Amino acid sequence: MISAQERKNILKRGKTSMTWEGEPLLGSSYGEEEIEAAVAAMRDSMAPSRGFGFSAPPIPDFEKAFAEYCGTKHAVALNSAGPGLDQAMRYLNLQPGDEVIVPAVNFVASPLAVMGAGGQIVWGEVDPKTLQLDPNDVEARITPRTRAIFPVHMNGLSAPMDDYFEIAERHPHDVHGPLAVIGDAARACGGSYRGTKIGKKGLLTVFSFHTMKNINTLGEGGMITTDDDDVAAYCRSSRFYGMDTDVWGTSNVMTKVQAAVGLVQLSKLDGFIESRRRLAHQRDEMLEGIPGLTLPFEPDDCVHSYYLYTLLVKDEWAGEKRDQIMKMLDEGHNIKCVVANPPVYEKRKLLREHAKGQSLPLSEQLGRRLFCIPIHPAMSDEDNEYICAALIDCVQRLG
Ligand SMILES: *Cc1c(COP(=O)(O)O)cnc(C)c1O
Repeated sequence: MISAQERKNILKRGKTSMTWEGEPLLGSSYGEEEIEAAVAAMRDSMAPSRGFGFSAPPIPDFEKAFAEYCGTKHAVALNSAGPGLDQAMRYLNLQPGDEVIVPAVNFVASPLAVMGAGGQIVWGEVDPKTLQLDPNDVEARITPRTRAIFPVHMNGLSAPMDDYFEIAERHPHDVHGPLAVIGDAARACGGSYRGTKIGKKGLLTVFSFHTMKNINTLGEGGMITTDDDDVAAYCRSSRFYGMDTDVWGTSNVMTKVQAAVGLVQLSKLDGFIESRRRLAHQRDEMLEGIPGLTLPFEPDDCVHSYYLYTLLVKDEWAGEKRDQIMKMLDEGHNIKCVVANPPVYEKRKLLREHAKGQSLPLSEQLGRRLFCIPIHPAMSDEDNEYICAALIDCVQRLG
């Protein structure tokens, strides 16, 4: 932990950026290369016979590069991650009462996708150490109606995919066989698990390139990766009115300009992750031993992409005291934090009413203990030090 004297010096020196958002609104950075790529894609589209459609280069090039990066046979580009999650659930052809297990500590997107496709959400608890959907809890919630396990690679770390596969094999559905395991990797582009990139394991995986995420394609964007030919054909067709295979679909296509920018961003992804990891590891050292806080955990078989750096306050500080730390960081230092995420049904009546009677005490308690301090590839080491010094200061004053 940084000593009291060092802390004083660091806080006196100040930070270079006025405000750090808890989840910075430009998750990665653009350079001249992206601007040039975007302009070139526009220029290329100026001929009336050429324009912007349909799935024109460099969209297939971006898909190919992304599939290669993840080590998958296919990648399908989309306008955002949400429709990819919807497609994943629609592909399962859920019947009323069919159940899909999703983590309670989650963003709203995957449970809404289950609901949207006519399925029944079954909330699962998360492992307090990793914040990933807990395989033991998943197994306890499986019924004859369970169709899929739908983990989120939470906050940049991989979920324990092999554990879900084992469970999926052990509890096959009567008609459909082993349960589908589908990953929401919106926050986890570039992370790894057991020597594979996130996106390789599972029936399919969905990524987001929204402006907050690990790589960005001009505000919105998404990708599906899969090794399954049938899934790939379905998603490709369904993203444009089901033209190719006569399935239901709407328009969820990515533009040429986004794909051109995505190609450049993808080439920078490992560098972005390296920066996030450098900051996170420096932070682990600076904060080690900080009273009352648990630092993020990185299992040996994972490479965390640190989309978020998630801390847990001790049980006694859950709720009010956690909120107070966040308030002190904000008001005293212009450091914003986010709570990512409390159980999604707590704030969404729609989801609460859909899954009436389900209560997840462990996840609810974690929702009152967790918070994320800002991290971003462009953050300077000085600002990283400042954030740690400020956090220690606030915690000690509150102590
Ligand atoms: C951001 C996010 C999404 C949605 O991504 P979009 O590209 O904005 O649709 C889905 N799931 C999780 C976990 C997210 O963080």
